[in-house]
Amino acid sequence: MPIPIQKTFTYSITEDEAIFLQKGMRVAVSFGKSKMYSALVLNIHQTKPTLYEAKEIHQILDEVPLVNELQLQHWQWIANYYMCSLGDVYRAALPSAFLLESETIINKNEAFTEEDILADDEFLIFEALQHQSQLTIHQVAAILGKKKVMPIVNSLIKKTAITIKEEIYEQYKPKLVKYVRLHSNYSSDDSLGNLLEELSRAKKQREAVLGFFQLSASKKPIKAKELEEKANVSSSIIKSLVDKNIFEFYHIQTDRIQFKGDTNDLKKLNEFQEKALSEIKETFTEKDVTLLHGITSSGKTEVYTKLIQEVLDQGKQVLFLLPEIALTTQIITRLQFYFGEQISVFHSKYSMNERVEVWNNVLENKPKARIILGARSSIFLPFSNLGLIVVDEEHETSYKQFEPSPRYNARDAAIVLAKIHAAKILLGSATPSLESYFNAQQKKYGFVALNRRHGNVQLPKIELINVKEKQRKKEIKGHFSDRLLKLIQEALDLKEQVILFQNRRGFSPVVECKTCGVSPQCPNCDVSLTYHKFRNELRCHYCNYQRSMPNSCGACGSNTLDNKGFGTEQIELELTQLFPDHKIGRMDLDTTRGKYGYQKIIGAFEAREIDVLVGTQMLSKGLDFDNVTLVGILNADSMLNFPDFRAHERAYDMMVQVSGRAGRSKKQGNVAIQTYNPFHQILQQVSTTNYAEMYKEQLQERWQYKYPPYYRLIKITLKHKDYNKVDTGVNWLFKALYSSFGEHVLGPTAPAVSRIRNQYIKNIVIKIPPKQSLASTKKQLKKIKDTFEAVKDFRPIRFITDVDAY
Ligand code: ADP
Ligand code: ZN
Ligand code: ZN
Repeated sequence: MPIPIQKTFTYSITEDEAIFLQKGMRVAVSFGKSKMYSALVLNIHQTKPTLYEAKEIHQILDEVPLVNELQLQHWQWIANYYMCSLGDVYRAALPSAFLLESETIINKNEAFTEEDILADDEFLIFEALQHQSQLTIHQVAAILGKKKVMPIVNSLIKKTAITIKEEIYEQYKPKLVKYVRLHSNYSSDDSLGNLLEELSRAKKQREAVLGFFQLSASKKPIKAKELEEKANVSSSIIKSLVDKNIFEFYHIQTDRIQFKGDTNDLKKLNEFQEKALSEIKETFTEKDVTLLHGITSSGKTEVYTKLIQEVLDQGKQVLFLLPEIALTTQIITRLQFYFGEQISVFHSKYSMNERVEVWNNVLENKPKARIILGARSSIFLPFSNLGLIVVDEEHETSYKQFEPSPRYNARDAAIVLAKIHAAKILLGSATPSLESYFNAQQKKYGFVALNRRHGNVQLPKIELINVKEKQRKKEIKGHFSDRLLKLIQEALDLKEQVILFQNRRGFSPVVECKTCGVSPQCPNCDVSLTYHKFRNELRCHYCNYQRSMPNSCGACGSNTLDNKGFGTEQIELELTQLFPDHKIGRMDLDTTRGKYGYQKIIGAFEAREIDVLVGTQMLSKGLDFDNVTLVGILNADSMLNFPDFRAHERAYDMMVQVSGRAGRSKKQGNVAIQTYNPFHQILQQVSTTNYAEMYKEQLQERWQYKYPPYYRLIKITLKHKDYNKVDTGVNWLFKALYSSFGEHVLGPTAPAVSRIRNQYIKNIVIKIPPKQSLASTKKQLKKIKDTFEAVKDFRPIRFITDVDAY
């Protein structure tokens, strides 16, 4: 069942059903008093449950298994390792259209018009939706006077007559593209001559026909739109030719994710890439996992493509994992350039129907799903024949899912997935995670280094600017030192582009009263609100609460509210004043909403419509702009002073990655880092791009303070709206854990933001020493959790277990 319960359940089926049914098919079942779910068949057996009477299933929902054995094996691993139910994994894995349940809400698809293809029951529901904007599956059952309605709803979805309500996704629009062809009357060359003669007086129509012939030289279907543009005629001209039976229209339902354009030959690898490639293949003869440490702009993507091609040639599937798809449209375009229609993209921002489409294509091993490019959730797809997994930017935190369960790390789960398929897996990064590098050093993984930028461009020159000194000498304007301003001016004078990195969005993170020192707080969370200038409002970045900017302080009434600190919006404003003749752009969460939000900004910057781009850490994600010669990091210190054991590693990654955006094509780039603390060891390591030293030093600290990769971490979080309840619960839990694990239990602590959406939060961390078994630790923890949940007072408390919580 797609629910967070550890158990599986037995339902009864008839003999006929038993013959038809296979593992991995879905069945509609009722559960509890009135719930209906799409359950997954895990086993078909003849053992009666002893504790309850097996109910009958409602119906079988699939003709063939939707989930294969390899997936089930993988999901089971995820459930065990991350301490969640198999149902949690099932729910996370399937596009929601496959998970119909009694509470699912359906809507009419307004664009649907072919009512005549609907069966009677289907039509009844469709009609009911004319009067009522939405229905639950429960209500559908009531309307039809029967319980067994899932297949009817399924069929309505398939026929695109209805959609499932999913607020976060964009609404589905069937995408029918109108094409034009010649009417069958006119196929021979002879009649064409006549045709043109006939039209000699209708000048526009004649032009349309001529345009059509020019386009048809390419032997591809001709879109009506395309013809209008080519012949420079209106749609009514083409329509009139259709009315005359000269043209006819036809429609093709295109896949919603479509590749346009031609594929190209793979680039020729340079000698260093060639060497890396052969080393990778060499390591693969002994190891299943290999880490590719390739500096920024060394051309890792080109190396991947060669490996991918070889696996495709063996007839196997490839999974290419990316941290955040929306940010990596460039890499999608590049891979599509090589592999064209063999690529499908899978991402949670795509609509339900797009995801269903990809799922089915992978399941059927269709040629267009030979390479799956996807974010973390694509590890759940029904692969049957994986030959290679590439995890690009393997160090990225977005591979980890924190909420909801399963709280998995897609890189780690992908390693297990590869093992299940007997496939190879390549982890790539310019700044590998300490864990992966450690595993490579321990010879658990193969290791290959690529230390040259393509074209032998040197890594950028990195200089540290001491802000404290600049302030003392009054050489600072707003948030810019004179040195950084000079570098920006020089780049702009040469018509080059600039990236400025400011790891905070909004205008100024915190507003503070100068009289009494109080900052406006979020009413739902224990955190200060952030000022957003554009809308003149205050917002909570945790729960999205917003209010207009008050005129006076809520605590003392004085009108002395002031900005403290700075964010992207403020930097953008200062820049427009400092460089009024140049176009300034901004890329952060606020400017990139919507499916194409990133693409627009990235596209504008590529097209050089923007001279200076200000942004948050989004800018550090593998972007490739050839005209950027300067990268400025405005406030390095905010990244270093972060209460997290990985803060320094992350700060190094982020700075090296953004720096890597400078000087990628011809000439060496510049990087300027403003800081109050230029002697900080991490900044020194960034300025010399000394990964090895960073690694050595961080590793020592990890050992000393008992952190990964030496110790494993399990984090437990308790949440409830009543503070006292959480507090009592967490103290009980701490004692119980302490008696099992002793000094390796840390806490209980309140996180930096100790209340979110009115829920109070407490954490406990369990550290697991290298020699202590992970499995038995989890078993013990599970026992304690069960005891905790058996206490009536604690039952309403949310108990969250996060394995490898980093
Ligand atoms: P990385 O991912 O390692 O930062 P990329 O794969 O983005 O590097 O490559 C950097 C740039 O160099 C890209 O614009 C890419 O097209 C170009 N490039 C890399 N290798 C080659 C090659 N062998 N031939 C031509 N161009 C290349
Ligand atoms: Zn809030
Ligand atoms: Zn005040």
